[in-house]
Amino acid sequence: MKIGIMGGTFDPIHIGHLLLGEFAYEEFGLDEIWYLPNGNPPHKQQTEEKEALRHRVEMIRLSIREVLYFKLCLHEAKENEHSYTYQTMRELNALYPEYEFYFILGADSLFAIETWKHFREIFPTCTILAAMRDDKDAADMEKQIQYLESAYGAKIRILRAPLLEISSTTLRKRVSQGKSIYYMVTDAAAEYIKENHLYQKASI
Ligand code: ATP
Ligand code: MG
Repeated sequence: MKIGIMGGTFDPIHIGHLLLGEFAYEEFGLDEIWYLPNGNPPHKQQTEEKEALRHRVEMIRLSIREVLYFKLCLHEAKENEHSYTYQTMRELNALYPEYEFYFILGADSLFAIETWKHFREIFPTCTILAAMRDDKDAADMEKQIQYLESAYGAKIRILRAPLLEISSTTLRKRVSQGKSIYYMVTDAAAEYIKENHLYQKASI
């Protein structure tokens, strides 16, 4: 089995995340895509934050429920713990030795990866599928890929998916301003956000 891992905060999950999964599935012949929401950082322990994890997970569940090959992976969804990608990928490889893992990310993450804890240890555990995003163009991406491949022996492929200028940050801001987020998240997620009065405060 070839498994695509789509890690993120998903606060909230939006169509950018879903399309990345869909195109990775299609282009690389993957068998499943696992959406992997991260936990809450240890310094955020108020009740509100604990609720936030539950909401993020629920919005993923609602958004992927109709796609059989999209799964929710709760490996990092722990309230008091911050998980690191290198560790998660090592554990997933140990848990599922017969699976081949593909880690899906957007350009911003590809350019930030050297700041991730023990990032060198990520590369032997998976092939990275990197999608373009916003201001990074194809030439920037090629350069960064070649650099990471030659410096660290990373295996990285470009993931071609529609370019969408959507981020969870913009969505949270739109909700706090009373603007619509329909068509940018699934209908189920939009309803959930409305019913649970999420993202009302302008500060996020
Ligand atoms: P935030 O604004 O809160 O950082 P986000 O939209 O970047 O939210 P994350 O949960 O941080 O969402 O992202 C998870 C992964 O999805 C990251 O690897 C990110 O690069 C990628 N990603 C998110 N949105 C897009 C997009 N529109 N195009 C390409 N990649 C994306
Ligand atoms: Mg982000």
